[in-house]
Amino acid sequence: MTQTGRGDWYLTETDGARLARCGLLDDSRGFGHGFSSRDGGGAENPDVFLAAAGLAGRPVCMARQVHGARLISPGAVSELPEADGILIGNNPEGPAAGIRTADCVPVLLADPVSGQGAVVHSGWKGTAAGIAPLAVGVLAGRGVIPSDLRAALGPAIGGCCYQVGSEVVGAVGGAGVEPRGGGFRLDLRQAIRMQLEAAGVDPRRISIAPWCTCCEKGLFFSWRREGAGAGRMISVLAATGPP
Ligand SMILES: [Zn+2]
Repeated sequence: MTQTGRGDWYLTETDGARLARCGLLDDSRGFGHGFSSRDGGGAENPDVFLAAAGLAGRPVCMARQVHGARLISPGAVSELPEADGILIGNNPEGPAAGIRTADCVPVLLADPVSGQGAVVHSGWKGTAAGIAPLAVGVLAGRGVIPSDLRAALGPAIGGCCYQVGSEVVGAVGGAGVEPRGGGFRLDLRQAIRMQLEAAGVDPRRISIAPWCTCCEKGLFFSWRREGAGAGRMISVLAATGPP
């Protein structure tokens, strides 16, 4: 296994599968996690990625993502429900929760006190709908103290590359927006960071991946760069034992 790091985040490579990990979540006992890259097991080949993430054989609950604000708990559903957030309980036998992205922000929330968590898909529409703070609210309803949460905002398009129109600026309420070159650039992860802080998450427990999916051609898929045919990364969170 080789490892290279940037701040709190690092890339690891196991058997040809390269994935990104967040030190903040490594330190959150009771969870396994990983963010896939374009190498060796994305959304098309989750088994390779899961093995590299130390979650081999673990079933993964995925949803049919619709850029909305609906959150679900994995249950006995025969077909994929429409949702953009999945909650996990503190059950080490339960499924991992997975989110597919290629520029949108994968948000992993983990509470090392109760062992509960969530994965959220937050593009501009999900951010406008406030899906990440909604997940914090649902977890709070289940006894989680928001300031205990660890939040990892994975590889996503950065403010460097994400040019948006005024309708998007209006939808996100101007959060994370910078006027540039006669238009606007949106830093989705800064917008989500502000939302999480407003929901009571401790700023010291929010970590943003240092990579822009659009800039990092060799590392990640990007919808903006590659178009609708771009591959998808998968990000997973799983309870692995008592916190
Ligand atoms: Zn960029």
